Amino acid sequence: MAHQLVVQKAAEFTSSSCRTIVLLYSPTNFRKMISTRDQSTCQYCQTKDATTIEHIHPTSKGGLTTPDNCILCCVSCNSLKGNLDIHQFISELKEVKKKEIDKKLSS
Ligand SMILES: [Zn+2]
Repeated sequence: MAHQLVVQKAAEFTSSSCRTIVLLYSPTNFRKMISTRDQSTCQYCQTKDATTIEHIHPTSKGGLTTPDNCILCCVSCNSLKGNLDIHQFISELKEVKKKEIDKKLSS
């Protein structure tokens, strides 16, 4: 896991021996960094003022809390995604958006 944290830019080696790593972000700074990087926008639906950190590969399935695996997300998308694999979720999101568009067109 330590190697993955380094590869995914959440930690770095402290010495040339590559035996010790240090995390690059505190939880607070990690949240600020993700929010700044993603410009406070949900990366799935583009809603502004997104507030939750989403693990693209769920932690329950081995995903890590790293910049490469985390994006900013709105509460709605985050609860819709839950533990779904990213490909399953994109399909679900397309269905939800399609139903919303159909509803708008029919009214
Ligand atoms: Zn969203």
